[in-house]
Amino acid sequence: MAQPPVLLGLTLPDVDVWSERVVVALGQNPGVFTGPGTNTYLVGTGRERLLLDTGQGMPAYLPVLERALERAGGARIREIVLTHGHPDHLGGVASVRERFGKLRVSKRPWPGVDEAAGCEIEPIDDGSVIRVEGATLRAVHAPGHAEDHLCFVLEEERALFSGDNVLGVGTTVIPDRGGDLGDYLRSLARLLDQRPGVIYPAHGPRIPDGSAKLREYIAHRLERERQVLAALGDGLAHVPEMVKRIYAAYPEALHGPAAASVASHLRKLEREGRVARDAEPDAVRARWRLA
Ligand SMILES: [Zn+2]
Repeated sequence: MAQPPVLLGLTLPDVDVWSERVVVALGQNPGVFTGPGTNTYLVGTGRERLLLDTGQGMPAYLPVLERALERAGGARIREIVLTHGHPDHLGGVASVRERFGKLRVSKRPWPGVDEAAGCEIEPIDDGSVIRVEGATLRAVHAPGHAEDHLCFVLEEERALFSGDNVLGVGTTVIPDRGGDLGDYLRSLARLLDQRPGVIYPAHGPRIPDGSAKLREYIAHRLERERQVLAALGDGLAHVPEMVKRIYAAYPEALHGPAAASVASHLRKLEREGRVARDAEPDAVRARWRLA
């Protein structure tokens, strides 16, 4: 999931070669939360490549994936690796396996979510290494956007497949279910520790200076946190009021996603004991104060 809708107009080629070992095939699922669609990646240099993520299961994706395999020199898919279990990454597993055979599917387990793949999941976790001719992927657990989220360092390029943690368009959503802004900020710091060069995101174009982008993401979230605390200090108690002030320069169409973002900040600050709310369980409707 990515946003925002102002970037819906951005289009990318369906198939593109981003490096000698990375071919991207677009998932054919453009939308408010996916931007131009989910990037799926063929990784490696040989006859057999890894497929990183599978899109959402759109019928139009399979011909795109076939063209990507042609661009990869007539390669075949050896196995599927998933960054996380959200439907725009895992949703294509069944149709890809139907078309290309019973490929192994590896991801960090998330019970209650993985069942949607309709097949057995090979568990991998932080530190797992997956090798294919010409490419070595090392998994880095990066929860926050989703609790099962793995990013992958491509060792040969010092590049990072960031999944939904860093995006080429929009900003990462921290959903209520399985999301946690505190985890997310710690994950960004861990990803920065990898000192990545290029970032290959799950949505939008590649990011040439990944480390700079990670620092920018961290600074942006900390600035938002300061703004939320300042709004509370000035007596603004409800999320919509805070959004009106903090996002004054943004079109109102973005105020919905903005409210979700402010709410994720408040939940983080609440867990840290820095803010408190009335009995309302819905963070967007609750009345908030500094603790
Ligand atoms: Zn996601």
